[in-house]
Amino acid sequence: MSKPAIQHHSVVVVGGGQAGISDSHYPQHLGIDHVGYDKHQSMHAWRSQRWDNFCLVTPNWQCALPGHQYQGPQPNGFMKKDEIINYLEAFKEQVNPPLQEGVAVELVQPVNGGFKVKTSLGECFAEQVVVASGGYHQPIIPRLAERLPASIQQIHSADYKNPQQLPPGKVLVVGSGQSGAQIAEDLHLAGRQVVLAVGDAPRCARFYRGRDVVDWLADMGYYDMPVSEHPLREGVRDNTNHYVTGRDGGRDIDLRKFALEGMELYGLLEGLEGDVLKFSGNLTEALDSADQVYNRINAAIDKHISDNSMEAPPGAVYEPVWAPAQERVTLSLAESGITSVIWCIGFSPDFRWLNAPVFTGRGHPVHERGVTSVPGLYFIGLPWLYTWGSGRLGGVARDAQFIADRIAHHREHCAEASLTASPAAEPSIA
Ligand SMILES: Cc1cc2nc3c(=O)[nH]c(=O)nc-3n(C[C@H](O)[C@H](O)[C@H](O)COP(=O)(O)OP(=O)(O)OC[C@H]3O[C@@H](n4cnc5c(N)ncnc54)[C@H](O)[C@@H]3O)c2cc1C
Repeated sequence: MSKPAIQHHSVVVVGGGQAGISDSHYPQHLGIDHVGYDKHQSMHAWRSQRWDNFCLVTPNWQCALPGHQYQGPQPNGFMKKDEIINYLEAFKEQVNPPLQEGVAVELVQPVNGGFKVKTSLGECFAEQVVVASGGYHQPIIPRLAERLPASIQQIHSADYKNPQQLPPGKVLVVGSGQSGAQIAEDLHLAGRQVVLAVGDAPRCARFYRGRDVVDWLADMGYYDMPVSEHPLREGVRDNTNHYVTGRDGGRDIDLRKFALEGMELYGLLEGLEGDVLKFSGNLTEALDSADQVYNRINAAIDKHISDNSMEAPPGAVYEPVWAPAQERVTLSLAESGITSVIWCIGFSPDFRWLNAPVFTGRGHPVHERGVTSVPGLYFIGLPWLYTWGSGRLGGVARDAQFIADRIAHHREHCAEASLTASPAAEPSIA
C-alpha cells in the first residue's frame, strides 16, 4: 500500500504573535502559499504573560505593524493591556493569515532542499521556514529557588498578574529590568512592602526637554541603526532593557525615590545560607550606573538639540534623591517577613524543536538580518535581529518585508534551478 502523500507548503511560519502575522502579511500580498502554526492562541504572550496593569513602555505611535499603524487618539500615550490586545486582534483580522492555532511545531529539520515539519497535527514538507516563535521562551528561575522554604510562594514575572495573587507579607522582587522595575512599582503603588534586589539594568528618562525620550531617539536615528553599526555589535542583543514606564501617561522609574518611600533596596541576590539571603554589596554602584546611563542619554539629546540649533525647554542633570547609607548584604527571610518571591531575571531561548546547525553554544541562533546559513530558514521577531525595534511592535514590519523578499528570491532561485535541471526545459535541437 502506498503511503499517503504528505502535505507540501511553500512556507511554514512557526508562531502566531505579532512577528508571525507580520510575516504572513507580505506573502499574502505576493500570493505565496504558506501556513502558520501557533501552539497557543495567537498573541498568547500579550494575553497571558503580562500583568493586569501592564501598559506599553514604547509610545503608541511606535505600534507600526505592516499596514497597521496605530490610528488611535493618543499617539504619544501608552496602550494598556486590553488596548494592545485589541490593536493586535485588529491586525490579525486585517491580515487574515492562514494560521492554525493550538498546533505545536515539534520538529523542523532540513531535508531534500526543504524542511520536514512535524506538528501536533502530523507531518508536512516546507520549502522554507520562518521561525517567529518569540524571544522569551523559558522563564529563568535560579537553582537557589529550590532551597527556599516551601511556605514562600514563588512565581516568575511571566506569571505575575496583580498584588492580590500574592500572600500578605513582604514581596522580594529579584531583578530590576523592565519587568522587575515595573512589577516592583505595581506592588509599591498597591501599598505592598517590597524588597528589591537591584541588578545592572540601565534606565532612561521618560520625558526630557519637552518630549518623550523615544521621540528624540527616533529623530536621532537610533531606531534605524542596524546591529552591525551599534558600538556593541551583536553584543547588544544581551543588553538588559532600560527601565522606565508608560503607566499613567508615562514617567520615570526612580528606585531611589521608591527607597525614600519605604521600598527596601539591595544589590544582586547572590545566595542563600540557611534562612539568610546573601546580596552582593553593589547597590550604590548599580544605582549610580543606571543614573549615568540616564544622564548620558539626556546629554546626547542636548547635543542633538544644540547641533541642530533647535528650540527646546532647558534640561537638567539628574541628581540622586537618595543613596544607601551602607551596603546591606544579608537578610533573614523569617525576620524580614518575606512571604513571596517574584523572579524577574529574564528568559532563556528554547529552540530544541529546530534541528538545524544554526545555533551558538548558548542556544542563540546565528543569522544575518534573520537569514541563516541554511537556505530557506529564517528568524524574525528577535530583539536586535536587525535594529532595536526588531523584537518590538515598531521594527518588525521592516524585517518582515526583508524576509519576504528573501523568500521570494529563494523561490525564484529554486524554480530556475529546477528548470535548468529539467530535460524538458532544455532547448530542442530538432
Ligand atoms: C514584559 C514585556 C514587555 C514588553 N513591552 C513592550 C513594549 O512596550 N513595546 C514593544 O514594542 N514591545 C514590548 N515587548 C516586546 C515584544 O513586543 C513582545 O515580546 C512580543 O510578544 C513579541 O512578539 P513575537 O511575535 O515576536 O513573539 P511572541 O509574542 O512571544 O509570539 C510567539 C508565538 O510563538 C508561539 N510558539 C512558540 N513556540 C512554538 C512552537 N514550537 N510551535 C508553535 N508555536 C510556537 C507562541 O505560542 C507564541 O504565541 C515586551 C516584552 C515583554 C516580555
